[in-house]
Amino acid sequence: MKLFLSTDFEGTSGIVAWEQILEGQAEYAQGRQLLTAEVNAVIKGAQSGGATEFVVNDAHNAMRNLHPQDLAGRATLITGKHKPLYMMEGLDASFDGICFVSYHGSIGAEHAVLSHTYNPGAIWEVRINGTIVGESGLNALVAAHYGVPIIFVSGDDATAEEATFIAPKAEMVVVKHSIGRFAAANIHPEVACELLYAGAEQAARMIGQMHTPQFHLPAQIEVTFLVADMAEMALWIRGVERVSARTVKFSGENLLDLYRTFVTVVTLTRSLVDR
Ligand SMILES: [Zn+2]
Repeated sequence: MKLFLSTDFEGTSGIVAWEQILEGQAEYAQGRQLLTAEVNAVIKGAQSGGATEFVVNDAHNAMRNLHPQDLAGRATLITGKHKPLYMMEGLDASFDGICFVSYHGSIGAEHAVLSHTYNPGAIWEVRINGTIVGESGLNALVAAHYGVPIIFVSGDDATAEEATFIAPKAEMVVVKHSIGRFAAANIHPEVACELLYAGAEQAARMIGQMHTPQFHLPAQIEVTFLVADMAEMALWIRGVERVSARTVKFSGENLLDLYRTFVTVVTLTRSLVDR
């Protein structure tokens, strides 16, 4: 059984501030330790449930948060940037299941620690076929394209709630309860890792009953930006249309193409972020 892990950082127990998860910041080393322990708990749990092969895609910020020698399960680590399939780089149809580890809530969620949707400096809201989605929903486009089920999701309570849209049968492990954007009640890391281990073990055992995410075709993505200039810039990309001052849309039958267009929109509008 071959598993793909897309690992973010904001959804790790104990993490509530950017200073803990950005390279060069004072608390980054501590954050990294917490994240690595959680990723390894998921790998070891899945191993005990029957998984034998692991590819980990480090998907947070500079994408060099995990050290290859510290990973359990002799996992292959996809690290560094830029990667054409971003948070889903490395996935293809050869995988049996996907785990979203240390994910976080979307930018508009009511209580979601460190909430954002790809780029907090540009994106205000994203909808797929009318439903507001976070990163789990967007990344599910790639999962659906390759026909691989999302079997496990971890993060705060907002993450688990949002992921039910694309993976209702996945094992959801909540490691902290968000109080606000920069506050959470964190389960002790030791306990969090026990929960992650048990959840991943169960997910691997139940993999036969998991479904690939479903999207009605043609699927439509709507992106609302913080300012109108960003929507204007997104129109440079073929197939992107204006809906209103700050909102654009694009649609199609090929979910991988849609995800690629979204990644291009994100990358392009980064150049306009001016705090
Ligand atoms: Zn992140």
